[in-house]
Amino acid sequence: MHTFTFHNPTKLIFGKGTISALKDEVPRFGKKVLLVYGGGSIKRNGIYDKTMKILNELGAEVLELSGVEPNPRLLTVHKGVELCKQENVEFLLAVGGGSVIDATKAIAAGARFDGDVWEIITKKETPKDALPFGTVLTLAATGSEMNPTSVITNWDTREKLGWGHPLVFPKFSILDPVHTFTVPRDQTVNGIVDIMAHSLEHYFSPAPNVPYNERMVEGLLLTVMETAPKLLQDLQNYEARETILFCGTMALNGVVNMGMAGDWATHGIEHAVSAMYDIPHGGGLAILFPNWIRYNLDVTTPKMKQLAIRVFGVSPEGKSDREIAEEGIDRLREFWNSLGAPSRLADYGIDDSKLDLMAEIAVSARSLGNIKKLDKEDVYEIYKMSL
Ligand code: NAP
Ligand code: FE
Repeated sequence: MHTFTFHNPTKLIFGKGTISALKDEVPRFGKKVLLVYGGGSIKRNGIYDKTMKILNELGAEVLELSGVEPNPRLLTVHKGVELCKQENVEFLLAVGGGSVIDATKAIAAGARFDGDVWEIITKKETPKDALPFGTVLTLAATGSEMNPTSVITNWDTREKLGWGHPLVFPKFSILDPVHTFTVPRDQTVNGIVDIMAHSLEHYFSPAPNVPYNERMVEGLLLTVMETAPKLLQDLQNYEARETILFCGTMALNGVVNMGMAGDWATHGIEHAVSAMYDIPHGGGLAILFPNWIRYNLDVTTPKMKQLAIRVFGVSPEGKSDREIAEEGIDRLREFWNSLGAPSRLADYGIDDSKLDLMAEIAVSARSLGNIKKLDKEDVYEIYKMSL
């Protein structure tokens, strides 16, 4: 294992009806609250009304920032930062999916920073302080509800960048599976793919001697793969929503990957596509991840072989390691296809006209890959395989 420190201070409040915990949690941080949410799903499914009722009963002074985009944009973060500074907001409450939570993290850091928050997102500056915030999660996918990471898009420069800091762990996160009942089918699938992709990023870690971590990640993948078809048959199946919601948090709250730095190149490669074409993160990952594994079989074969046998049920009899690994990749693709996830960039109408530019942006933004560093040519080839 790599040396590591594990410290996750987010209070996780999980289960049916847990939104009532807002009554105890919010007053610990202040009276002046900025409610941050997206394009309106919380108004349609009643979560907005439930939240406002509790905040009103508490006598909180509530300001609102709505319209946070999927793939949240810097411009919206700037609006939130301005509001916090002008109105002396004391606490932020994010109600929504990963995009709303990620934007809230950037607002929380930006509100206590003198310069432009983009300096923090591009890692030129380190936050010294942040406003406290909590979350009411409405979509199982990112794990943002229990980690200190945020991904923000600068639409002017077409950069989508991840950043993180311990100051932006949520103070608490409220997860009620019922709140995810209204997530549409395609978005449910994108979330499932993202959860599996986080698991895979961990699994393709170069860290030696991580047998227990590997078993935990395999457990996550097996559980999600058993549950996903049941959920897609009935989007209001409580047990299935509950399992997927819990798996989403566990896949990226630091527990299963203690002591193993994952690879994360595929996330970087996907961010460049989302930044250029504004496609859903999970959809992009479904297209790219199998191709990243295949392109890098020189280094991914041992782990992919193990996954193929332990998770994808590939029989190793009479096959080479590489053949077993390739069959595992095929099974991964087939599974995502069976859920209705996209498998080619063309599924989003993306052609080859910007592959070179996206590859350039992907490698110039961040160093890509841990099990193997990728250069621009590598990224270009993976995009080409994905057309
Ligand atoms: P999202 O972008 O937050 O939401 C996607 C869509 O789902 C939105 O249109 C949203 O509508 C809708 N939605 C959310 N909850 C709903 C509900 N209960 N009922 C009906 N519709 C609902 O999706 P996400 O996958 O959670 O977040 C994706 C973003 O997170 C990407 O930018 C990705 O790069 C990033 N990400 C972050 C991390 C991290 O660790 N921080 C990890 C992976 C990915 P409304 O806008 O109307 O609410
Ligand atoms: Fe992700």
